[in-house]
Amino acid sequence: MLRSLQCLDCGEVMPLSEHYSCPECGGELRLQYDHAAIRRRGRFARNWQAPADMFTRFGELLPLPSASSAISLGEGNTPLIRAGNLERALGLHELHIKLECCNPTGSFKDRQVSAGISMARHFGRTSLAVTSSGNVGNSLAAYAARSGASAHIWVSKNTPASKRQQIDVYGSRVYEIETGPVDAAADAFNDPYEVAVRELPALCREHGLVPMTSARSVNPFMVEGAKTIAYEICADQGNCPDVVAAPVGGGGLVGGLSEGFRDLREIGLTDRVPRIVAGQPQDHFAGIDVAGDPDCKGARPLDAAWANAAIGNSGGHLHRLTRSEILAAQAELAGKEGIFAEPRGAYALAAFAAEAGAGRIPDDTVAVVIVSGTGLKDMTAAAEFATLHDLARSSTVSSVWESELDPVPESREWHHSEGR
Ligand SMILES: [Zn+2]
Repeated sequence: MLRSLQCLDCGEVMPLSEHYSCPECGGELRLQYDHAAIRRRGRFARNWQAPADMFTRFGELLPLPSASSAISLGEGNTPLIRAGNLERALGLHELHIKLECCNPTGSFKDRQVSAGISMARHFGRTSLAVTSSGNVGNSLAAYAARSGASAHIWVSKNTPASKRQQIDVYGSRVYEIETGPVDAAADAFNDPYEVAVRELPALCREHGLVPMTSARSVNPFMVEGAKTIAYEICADQGNCPDVVAAPVGGGGLVGGLSEGFRDLREIGLTDRVPRIVAGQPQDHFAGIDVAGDPDCKGARPLDAAWANAAIGNSGGHLHRLTRSEILAAQAELAGKEGIFAEPRGAYALAAFAAEAGAGRIPDDTVAVVIVSGTGLKDMTAAAEFATLHDLARSSTVSSVWESELDPVPESREWHHSEGR
């Protein structure tokens, strides 16, 4: 069996089939691949660096048995760009940014939704459901429209208006759930939206819907999509970087990245895995390092244990970020590199800057920072960082000649006659 499902609780191994949790004990399932067979066949090694779609390049390490039945909007294959200005600002050797904001709906979730909805179709299912703070809902709505499936999407009332509107345009059924103030970490665990997140799998079983939450404990197939970010980084770099910085929302991105880097090492295409530096906001969510403690406050990221183990096993660190650190990282990405990230999209840079500030980035480090989503998703937050960093400086003029411009320096005067 090239692919199988393994229960993380009772250890049961079963063939790839439509199970979202263990049929024996209800435990969490993970995908298992026969790395030795994949290595022997050599197909992955031949395809992974060639320009092609995600399923053609990486299909043998994704759950879908046949690339031809994938539901795709051209996700993945995002740019990895050198960030020279941030290197100079942070005193770094080599920093690259993985632009996950370039995915079809503007976030890395497209990789997971594409993997998950392709599996749903493989199992003959066309009714899907998710609770989402914005990005998964947005992505699912788009992929459901493309595949002709129906999607039910529950969003928190706190979801930024622009994210909500981006879900609406695809025609999915959207429900808003009442919720408390976003900073109320004290009782966020019992927030109606957080309760809905936990109850969704049961609702799906009751109504025959596929749960499309991007957490391994809810849908083990979906989260496999995030591994492709690791494959692409190593394919572009020719080897594995020393450090990869990533955001933590539910934790599935960090967990998936770690599996992806390990896959490559297992099949002999790289010789190591990177240190994972992760950024998680201080408000609303319990830290992934303490979320297992029943007394801790805040909403529980669903993949907290998986993500926390991935960071720890890599020798990396988790940074709990303040709102102002996140907004500063957003402003740095925009002002120094021309990259407009949403707040969550800037967690990784904020965490990486904190790691560098703590003196834990050696001089010869090759690092990759993942910008997970575009700033166009959340214009309210954009206005907030623009105001905070005094970037909103437009003024009204009645002609261009009224604008306050500096005189042209003598030596750089424009000479039209020279045809410039
Ligand atoms: Zn089990």
